[in-house]
Amino acid sequence: MYRNAQIDLEQASRLRQQVARLTAERRGVERELMRRHCLLRGSLLERPRFCGKAGCKCTRGQPHPPSLYLSRLVEGTARHLFIRASDHPRARRDASAYRQFRQALRRWRAIVKELNELWEALGEAREESYPFE
Ligand SMILES: [Zn+2]
Repeated sequence: MYRNAQIDLEQASRLRQQVARLTAERRGVERELMRRHCLLRGSLLERPRFCGKAGCKCTRGQPHPPSLYLSRLVEGTARHLFIRASDHPRARRDASAYRQFRQALRRWRAIVKELNELWEALGEAREESYPFE
């Protein structure tokens, strides 16, 4: 590198540190995005279940295991799909994986946007003037 009054060495060094931190975080987020779990799109709704039979524990405030529904937007309208009890564990796991995937993707986009600005700033910080001094 040549000496040049225009170049802000401290600023460039700060920007490189920020870039290094964000690229490391981005690699972690990309590992998350690359996982192989199946994803169940939508959110799960739980409804407490009361059978209403006389003398059942649910009439004394102890509901049965909840009913589970998969709530999804279909053409802007919420649709609720009943989930069989035997599918509950898998549905919970895959819906949770879906939530994590979407969260990771939001973070990835924010990091990329920030990196984009940092590369521009780093380019400016490294710009020299002409004629050379
Ligand atoms: Zn009951």
